[in-house]
Amino acid sequence: MLKVSGFYDSSCTNGDGWRSVIFFTGCPHKCKGCLNPETWDFDGGEFYSPLDLLQKIKNNIDHIDGVTFSGGEPFQERYVDDLLILINEIKKLNLNIWCYTGYLYEELLKNSKYSSILKNIDVLVDGPFIREKYDPQLKFRGSSNQRVLFLNKKT
Ligand code: SF4
Repeated sequence: MLKVSGFYDSSCTNGDGWRSVIFFTGCPHKCKGCLNPETWDFDGGEFYSPLDLLQKIKNNIDHIDGVTFSGGEPFQERYVDDLLILINEIKKLNLNIWCYTGYLYEELLKNSKYSSILKNIDVLVDGPFIREKYDPQLKFRGSSNQRVLFLNKKT
């Protein structure tokens, strides 16, 4: 099961185009100035199966370009198996996947459990939010240390 703190049916500020957004529960980073501190508690949120979330995405299929994973922190070992099921189903719908993480891409690569997830994410926005580096002009990220990494060159 996946623990979810929030779900947007369709948003245009969490990646390119119109996107359903899943806010996963639990975040170890606790960045000062985080916009979503209600997602930090690992025991918060509600349980959803991958197929529950897939159905919510399908309900919006006619007006979205993709799905965004946000949080909270999507990269948690307790989520890996169910996240892969969800990712595989999203790909069958021909939707692209953006993912926000407080980890650096290089840190994630060191954990072999995350490699299958990374292979299927089209765009990764990485790194913690750093308030001193906040810049409202930045697109799809809050602080200048964060990177928008196009992992799938076709995206
Ligand atoms: S990684 Fe994201 S959700 Fe977690 S504290 Fe930082 S800004 Fe907030």
